[in-house]
Order: sequence, then C-alpha cells, then structure tokens
Amino acid sequence: MTERFNYPPNREALSAARAKALETLLIKKGVITAETVDKVLGFFETKMGPFNGAKLVARAWVDPAFKVRLIADTPAAIAELDFPEGMAGAEGEYMKAVANAPGVHNLVICTLCSCYPWPVLGLPPYWYKDPSFRARAAREPRKILGEFGLALGAATEIKVWDSSAQIRWFVIPERPAGTEHMTEEQLAGLVTPESMMGVAVANAA
Ligand code: FE
Repeated sequence: MTERFNYPPNREALSAARAKALETLLIKKGVITAETVDKVLGFFETKMGPFNGAKLVARAWVDPAFKVRLIADTPAAIAELDFPEGMAGAEGEYMKAVANAPGVHNLVICTLCSCYPWPVLGLPPYWYKDPSFRARAAREPRKILGEFGLALGAATEIKVWDSSAQIRWFVIPERPAGTEHMTEEQLAGLVTPESMMGVAVANAA
C-alpha cells in the first residue's frame, strides 16, 4: 500500500519551531505574557494529568460498583473523588470511559484532530495528533497496535472510539493478574497513559 502521509524526519522539530515562533509573536503583540504558556503547561503537569486517570482506574479495579458508575456517567463518578478544581473544564467536558474486558480491547483516537481528555490524561503525545496514526488506527487498528508492541489474538475484538468535541474517551484497562495483594495506590502506579489510550495494557510491575 502506498504511504499516504509522507513526512520529513524532522517534522517534530519543525512543529516545535513553529509553536515557538507563534508564542514569540503573541508575546510581542501583547496577546499573552511570557509566563502564559509555562503556566498552562505547569497546570497540566502538576494538577491535570495521567495521575488523575490512574486514580480513577485503580478505584474502578477495587470497587466494581464505582466502575459501573464511571462507565454509566463518567463526570458524576469523577466528582465523587477528591480531585483538584477544573476536572470538568479545559477538554474535560463530556469525558466518557470504556472498559476493556476479556476478548474486548478498546482504542481511543481522534480522526479529526486531537480531542483528548486532558484532566485525566494530560496533554496528548505528539503521535496522537499525527495524521498518519489517526488514519491508520481507524483503518487497521490491529496492525497499529502490533506496532505499539501489543499483539492481540484474532479472537479479541478491537473497538475504536473516535473522540470529538462532544465526547472525549478514555479506557479502563483490565486489572493485571497477580495484583490481588496491592493497595489502591500501588495499583494506580501500574496505570500508564498509554494503557488508558488503548495502545498498551496495564502490566504488573
Ligand atoms: Fe479532535
């Protein structure tokens, strides 16, 4: 098959340079200050990030009733836990969780752009926004997952969820075997952002 998207190898550096130039111009024109971007980035590094999602998944693993609520009405279940202010804003509107189960694996993408539940996963990684990943994940998810190192048997159904401004999906991975003795906090440590995007599973450390 012809590669539909052919990028120069330095595309990430080019994007970074473009973002830097745009920031510099916005500061120069007085639209934002020198601290604005750092402040936003800092917020999503310390307050809103994958550690929030990991906390939700670990709770779902130890509390089946919470898991049911998390899937049925995700924002309401999130509001039950003690999270910082802002979980429902800045890309946190309309978050929805789906759970992996034996024989069912979920993968989250955004075919249009990069819709992503920032409050529970943080800022999306570069590859999530890559048009090649977005197109191929919709077309050949099993192959893409294989490239991420996740070989799923043919019997496992793969469900691909397309995030949008209306719904931003995240995955509740399966609880790894042999973790019965672990505390909720220890369990949260096993939950990676990749496992909540569906390009990986949660593994016992
Ligand atoms: Fe999007």
